[in-house]
Amino acid sequence: MERFPIVEVTAEPELEPYWSAAREGRLVLARCSVCGATPWMPRPFCSTHPRAVVEWIETGGRATIYSWTTVMKGEGVFKDSSPYVLAVVELEDGPRILTNVVTGDDEHLCIGQPVSAVFDHRAAGGSILRFITDDARTGTPLAGAQHGN
Ligand SMILES: [Zn+2]
Repeated sequence: MERFPIVEVTAEPELEPYWSAAREGRLVLARCSVCGATPWMPRPFCSTHPRAVVEWIETGGRATIYSWTTVMKGEGVFKDSSPYVLAVVELEDGPRILTNVVTGDDEHLCIGQPVSAVFDHRAAGGSILRFITDDARTGTPLAGAQHGN
């Protein structure tokens, strides 16, 4: 996780259930009570059913790699983080998420490879969701996520 920069995060008040769970190392999604959609990023409304109730559901945090690339030359705050993995992962519980993958071996990643949600708690404003490969994980998914301060 130290490979990645400590970025500034603004936790939107309307997404407090998401940010609160993230601080505890849990991944939750907003699910529309009418159509069951679970968009990423979470939002407190459904774009198809704006009057529907949105419920916050806990996920298992398990996903598979849908697509990925290794960024060899990072930009901005990621300038000193390269090489690093930028990926789209498909959550078992729903959406695809653009994210970073923490891996022990960038060269042997593959599409369909299982990964688990992990949170980087170093930022002051909120915990950053990333995913980690099984071989790079030292603890259990989510509950074993790094806890800062
Ligand atoms: Zn809906």
